[in-house]
Amino acid sequence: CGIVGYVGPKSSLEVLLGGLRRLEYRGYDSAGVAVIADDGQLVTRKRAGKLAVLESDLAAVPLPEGTTGIGHTRWATHGGPTDVNAHPHLSADGRIALIHNGIIENFASLKQELVDAGCTFDSETDTEVAAKLLGREYEQGDGIAAALARVVARLEGAFTLLAVHQDEPGVVVGARRNSPLVIGLGEGENFLGSDVAAFVEHTRRAVAIGQDQIVVITPDSVTVTDFEGGPVEVHEFEVSWDA
Ligand code: GLU
Repeated sequence: CGIVGYVGPKSSLEVLLGGLRRLEYRGYDSAGVAVIADDGQLVTRKRAGKLAVLESDLAAVPLPEGTTGIGHTRWATHGGPTDVNAHPHLSADGRIALIHNGIIENFASLKQELVDAGCTFDSETDTEVAAKLLGREYEQGDGIAAALARVVARLEGAFTLLAVHQDEPGVVVGARRNSPLVIGLGEGENFLGSDVAAFVEHTRRAVAIGQDQIVVITPDSVTVTDFEGGPVEVHEFEVSWDA
């Protein structure tokens, strides 16, 4: 339902939770985060219920600090609002975390294909299919952005996807179809959000991602392409409303 991504020098967890708080108005039933910790491990935490449930869980058992991360509030469509069904979802090797807004219409046939290939699933979500597919595509060895491009080419429906790989710290990748995604441009840091509210407390400079496009952000670069990897023109705008 709500999506935020961050790369930069700040504590990503604080940026993510701040963004999710600002996206709360959209309504949700679960929340979760994934951070590439400074020691190189990908760590996640996700809980059904209000953001306050996740926050008190994080206060009781803190996650290690990290400067790359993604955060999600979920409005369940496939699978009930449980901790397991909350996002992020992981690749089979646990090295990729992925979050999703929307509905993957052809998830059942993709899931069957993955099950036939020996893949096991933790959740009942349509989203986990994209996480498991991304893990398989990553094995080709050409990086998370190229792997995501091959995954989204196979998905039908509506999706905003963000993903991180623990071997690519300082990188958040995103893709969108029939669902919004906006870049927030910072100084030595960059943001992604389903809505400018996700990052407006940090920057007013924004770029809307077009239909069927992929974005890669690092602390000092933003690259947008179409699903085939071709370049696209982007238009920066100033967030003018008082968020
Ligand atoms: N279809 C996904 C799920 O049920 C994502 C829902 C959302 O947009 O929050 O987990």
